[in-house]
Amino acid sequence: MECTASRRLFNEVIVPNYSPSPIIPVRGAGSHLWDQEDKEYIDFAGGIAVNALGHCHPELVQALHKQSQKLWHLSNAWTNEPALRLAEQLTKATFAQQAYFSNSGAEANEAALKLARKYAKDHFDPEKTEIIAFDNSFHGRTLLTVSTGGQPKYCKGFEPLPGDITHLPYNDLASVEYHISNKTCAVIVEPIQGEGGVIPAEPLFLEGLRTLCTQHNALLIFDEIQTGMGRTGNLFAYQNYEVIPDILTSAKALGCGIPIGAMLTTKAIAESFTIGSHGSTYGGNPLVCAVASKAFELINDPAVLSGVKQRQRMFQSKLELFNQKIGLFSHIRTEGLLIGCELQTKWHGKALALKQLAEQEGVMVLTAGPNILRLAPSLIIPPKDISQGLEHLTTAMLALKMDF
Ligand SMILES: *Cc1c(COP(=O)(O)O)cnc(C)c1O
Repeated sequence: MECTASRRLFNEVIVPNYSPSPIIPVRGAGSHLWDQEDKEYIDFAGGIAVNALGHCHPELVQALHKQSQKLWHLSNAWTNEPALRLAEQLTKATFAQQAYFSNSGAEANEAALKLARKYAKDHFDPEKTEIIAFDNSFHGRTLLTVSTGGQPKYCKGFEPLPGDITHLPYNDLASVEYHISNKTCAVIVEPIQGEGGVIPAEPLFLEGLRTLCTQHNALLIFDEIQTGMGRTGNLFAYQNYEVIPDILTSAKALGCGIPIGAMLTTKAIAESFTIGSHGSTYGGNPLVCAVASKAFELINDPAVLSGVKQRQRMFQSKLELFNQKIGLFSHIRTEGLLIGCELQTKWHGKALALKQLAEQEGVMVLTAGPNILRLAPSLIIPPKDISQGLEHLTTAMLALKMDF
């Protein structure tokens, strides 16, 4: 079996909507990965901000093992202890009072947007249906969430799209002020655009959105699927701002590699989801919730969160130092351990080439569009792995310069 699993087989048996790397990782531990040839890599990709505690964290392995021998799945005709525990952890640590569990980020956003539409109809006006979202944002790939995201190329070919979604420029409060009305039911925003290139919202922008939403009885939805669960050094990024959303969505690092998403909100808003109005067969299943609950306990720890800030400083200073010598990047943005390195104009379009060179040198990285190298490593990556990975990355940066 193992010998037939090759990158070539992928082209034969898997739908071609992805273009994975030529190597196939087979094993991981902490911030290290090994491929089929037993070549070792430092992991700065973190499964796209998912593996916040690295690979196969012993306490997560134990939580999974323990629950796997007790109870895997029930459906939502019965509640279960791990889901209740996780909901209690999430609501105690945030503004929220109630949680809805899904299997992915897109589904958490889908639930948030459906809830916002329903809430507006329940309390205000049947025509209060407009969703305001922002250019270059990313909210998932279901038809509603992809239409809400601000990248038209992801919607092309899938029309007709769900209606009444307005896209405005990110960080441009004046345009929201101009467009928002009593027909707006929700404003959805990433506090830091992740796929869009690690672009943080300005505090005044989020504060202004809060005021405008309150004035127009629209719900403010923070998509924290990438920025949440300790990524920025706080449990959620909204805690870095003086703004409290009405709905917050989480996924990615929530399960640290187990598929789960969550929509968090207040009791008053949650009431618009009445019995039977929304649901999911797997949502909040005991196996995933047991792991997510342990992950939450491990991440929501002052030492882990302040460790994110320390590691951020290490990445920032080292990347700046290397870049002074090599001069590939125009900007290096670190938002906790969400890191975006923007290529200079001269190197535009080369982010993927740099990612491939980095992999050859033994470090896994991500891109965010054609011009931005993105890193989203484990929140507990050991400093020596940071140094080693950055050395490999520097070699790749030099190789990119030589090649072109
Ligand atoms: C990844 C991501 C999503 C989609 O999550 P999936 O689990 O892939 O559905 C939505 N919003 C943001 C900000 C993300 O980073």
